[in-house]
Amino acid sequence: MIDIDYSGLRGRKTECLPGCGMCCLCQPEILPQERSYFRTSHHRAMVKNGSGGFSIALKKGQGSCVFLNGRKCDIYGNRPTFCRQYPFHFYAGDRISAELDLSCRGVWTGKGTDAESEARQIASESQDRMSKALRESKAVYEEFYEICADAGVMGDPQSIRADVAANIQRFGDPLSIAEILGAALEEDPVSVSGIDFLGEANQEEMRTEAMEASLSSMSSEDPLNLPVYCAPNFGWNMFQASGDRVTWYLLTDAGDLEEVDTIRPESIQLGRPDAEGMQVLTDYLGVLNSRESFLGSVFYKMDDLGYEDPMENVYIGSLAVSVADLLWRASMLDAFMGTGFGADGIREAIIFYDMDRLDAPSVGAFI
Ligand code: SF4
Ligand code: SF4
Repeated sequence: MIDIDYSGLRGRKTECLPGCGMCCLCQPEILPQERSYFRTSHHRAMVKNGSGGFSIALKKGQGSCVFLNGRKCDIYGNRPTFCRQYPFHFYAGDRISAELDLSCRGVWTGKGTDAESEARQIASESQDRMSKALRESKAVYEEFYEICADAGVMGDPQSIRADVAANIQRFGDPLSIAEILGAALEEDPVSVSGIDFLGEANQEEMRTEAMEASLSSMSSEDPLNLPVYCAPNFGWNMFQASGDRVTWYLLTDAGDLEEVDTIRPESIQLGRPDAEGMQVLTDYLGVLNSRESFLGSVFYKMDDLGYEDPMENVYIGSLAVSVADLLWRASMLDAFMGTGFGADGIREAIIFYDMDRLDAPSVGAFI
């Protein structure tokens, strides 16, 4: 059995909520060993995907999976592995770790089955695939560490995470986030503990930076690439930025987009979580800070930046951008739907944001 890190799941429960169907918007891949079932019984539902394999077709090319009817799966007993795994993700870096997708509303109820036991069961059925993915990702990580060492930008992930954990409250305050972003631009390695927080950052610049981080993910013309927010009533909401407006659409079960409202993003003020909202936010930042996939996305960014920036700075800068994006999304949801900045409002923003977090480019890979 492969050694898998389940610490991110410990103490959590999951259940699938009837009527939700949100994960059926994710176009599951059909693994090679699953193709014969689909070729024989549902060949018209197979579409080529960007990685040379096959996925299940979506309604009208942009809606939910063609097998979702009345928010129930027509082929439940034969659904692909990717559907069975959700809301778990197995990330292959220099080891494999299990992560929970916090966009699934069923992980927030505190009810259901024990997450770690369920993930262990799922992993036991995919050992060969995981071994192969781990071999490949280990080779990529080894090369990455060598390049970092040669370039003099290698840091110690454990120390960086400990520094962030000791200062996690700083990441919840928009002005402190601006100061962290400023410090991350230094040439030498910085730590959050070493930043002299003066409270002098420019609030307007921070609002603009947060808005730009969010709007970049909402700017695709293809609805397939737009972020989805599954609301408490299980409405599938999508948001598209175009020109000087953000348009809010409802994706129907038939795969149509119905416009609900529009807003000028410039009119949205960046909200601050209240005390309970801050608790939910810092808990989430603790999750991000411990996720191997977040570290993998930092490594990807270092590669993208040409190995010119110290690991410490790229890490805290990436976390600061993530929370700025999340706070702007919370502010946009509040402007459209009145969700607020208490525990409920911040939780809704996390439900909206986390799926995109797990889609972020990374040097490792989800299996
Ligand atoms: S997102 Fe979660 S609650 Fe919703 S259908 Fe998928 S597993 Fe069930
Ligand atoms: S196969 Fe079933 S579970 Fe998987 S995405 Fe389609 S409807 Fe959802």
